[in-house]
Amino acid sequence: MSIAGKPWLDDSLTEDAARSVKSLYYITDEDATLARRIVNMPFLETLEPTDTAALEALSWLAYTEILALREVLAHPTLQDGITDDWAPVVALMDSVNEAAPAFLRPLLDPQQATVERRSITLPHTGTTDLAIIRTSPGVPRSMDLLEHSVSGIEQFMGVALPTNYVGLLFGTAVLGYSHGTHYGNYLVMLPEYDTDDGSDSANYAGRLMAHEVAHSYWRDNPNWLDEGLAELLAGISENRRTKVPVTVDYTYCPAGDNIALLERLDAAGVIYDYRCNYALGGQFFLELYNSLGDDAFSEGIRNLYLSSVVEDYTDEFDGSPVGIRQIQDAFRSHAATVAPIIDKWYHGSSPQ
Ligand SMILES: [Zn+2]
Repeated sequence: MSIAGKPWLDDSLTEDAARSVKSLYYITDEDATLARRIVNMPFLETLEPTDTAALEALSWLAYTEILALREVLAHPTLQDGITDDWAPVVALMDSVNEAAPAFLRPLLDPQQATVERRSITLPHTGTTDLAIIRTSPGVPRSMDLLEHSVSGIEQFMGVALPTNYVGLLFGTAVLGYSHGTHYGNYLVMLPEYDTDDGSDSANYAGRLMAHEVAHSYWRDNPNWLDEGLAELLAGISENRRTKVPVTVDYTYCPAGDNIALLERLDAAGVIYDYRCNYALGGQFFLELYNSLGDDAFSEGIRNLYLSSVVEDYTDEFDGSPVGIRQIQDAFRSHAATVAPIIDKWYHGSSPQ
């Protein structure tokens, strides 16, 4: 297959270009004719972060369900080729196909779907594409909230986002019972948060969005760790925007008062109130944050994140899950402050 003549391959091979070539190679493996068609589509004339994300979604579809990929590309909206306008929608296709295949149709219907795009430059990630995909009308504020969450959390983490494309889909179809969720390089939220009318949903939108953006860094670890850090980073992001004090939303866990107990319940397959992960994880990290201050806390969770992305090859996930031992290591230089907080929230201060 010829991909020569693409300006993005001419100079030095960027990381995005390398990822894109790899995706094309996977698609070639499943259907070489289709891969050749994709290479010549308008969205690949130049290579933006969104295009790399779209190619990765296509290659994942090719690998998991080649028939779904052929169907998507035969859709009237895409049959003349994917354009830059539609690339953000294509970037959602793999997980939408998995979570709610019936939703593919309205997403590809130009009468229903709209895409709003913004490109920003972040200190650690560089050029980053943001996109909001909607199937009903929304408000301009949502894109500002997305930019605020992405840039604030990236700055606090002090390390590049794992992806330079962040999509936000406002839709009900892929959500199950939750109000927001995170799928790797894009987020989904209920359309009721795409408002600016002073309602409870409008007031909560920034916090919910920041929570989901924080999951870009915090996923595939124990739930209390991922949810606790997402809660705290959402609190910090909202504090920067609205000056409300940094708090966590949940403080009560009916199952017990310590995180070690949650881990034992997880290990035994015992179902408990999922909000315990927000309550105990959130309060643990909030107390660490309040005791250490911005700089030391930020440095600690950056260390923790960097140890979570080291590949350990023991499981199918990228990176290696981190837990309480890696937290002790990451905050080693503040052990005297951190140890009693770990005792209180992880081991439990009340008699067992
Ligand atoms: Zn979460």
